[in-house]
Amino acid sequence: MKGRVYLIGAGPGAPDLATLRAAEVLRRADVVFYDSLVHPDTLALASRAEKFAVGKRSGRRSTAQQFINKRLLDAVRRHDVVVRLKGGDPLLFGRAQEEIDALRRAGVDFEIVPGVTAATAAAAELGVSLTRRGLSRHVVFVTPRAAKGERANDWAAAVLAADTAVLYMGAGLAQSIVADLVARGMPGDTPVALVENASLPGRVAVVGTLSDLPELARLSGDGPVTVLFGEVLKESAATSDEIQALLKQA
Ligand code: SAH
Repeated sequence: MKGRVYLIGAGPGAPDLATLRAAEVLRRADVVFYDSLVHPDTLALASRAEKFAVGKRSGRRSTAQQFINKRLLDAVRRHDVVVRLKGGDPLLFGRAQEEIDALRRAGVDFEIVPGVTAATAAAAELGVSLTRRGLSRHVVFVTPRAAKGERANDWAAAVLAADTAVLYMGAGLAQSIVADLVARGMPGDTPVALVENASLPGRVAVVGTLSDLPELARLSGDGPVTVLFGEVLKESAATSDEIQALLKQA
């Protein structure tokens, strides 16, 4: 093996939320395999690299994942600096373990560069702390999505058990999320927030209650969405008067 593979977190969107280390490695990169949520300006930091888009917005099939693993191995045979660039932090909901396992099996040298994950970028948009003395001492990062054949994922139990929960990849599922959580006993007046495009110009950050969630979801577009649950959200001033009015009409 000639080179090293870097699994890099690009951050939640805004290019200046990538780390200095990410930028430094990208500048040296020979090849970059990037996910669809990576900002073009972040990609542009890899000025001398060959760049390949891999991965879909959601529901990536395992064959495609195996193909990515293979391309990483092929690239590192020929190049010194091979980058696998993922949105947010590479070790959260990014299928990084499959790539790490493939690299380990092949005896490839690799390094992981963490990134700002969507949950913390969303909290920043909302202006609330995810933890808070006396109110929130645990935070869960959870997704309701489970691929076919995966073991059942009791995401609702995780949300109910946590002081604060941040739900990834829940866009388009608002109705069923509310139905599941209410059926499991979560009060309809539990504070929730929805943040779309955190850190990007098209950002939407709205706060309401669990019962409002389907309406809040209608205010978002087709960007990546994070949904947050918990008492800490009561402190957020993110919901504008305009949105309150829309919610009242609905
Ligand atoms: N590794 C990424 C998550 C990948 S899964 C991370 O650490 O952030 C993709 C999901 O992340 C999206 O469905 C959405 O739930 C969330 N997400 C990514 N970027 C986001 C953004 N800018 N704003 C809100 N949610 C985002």
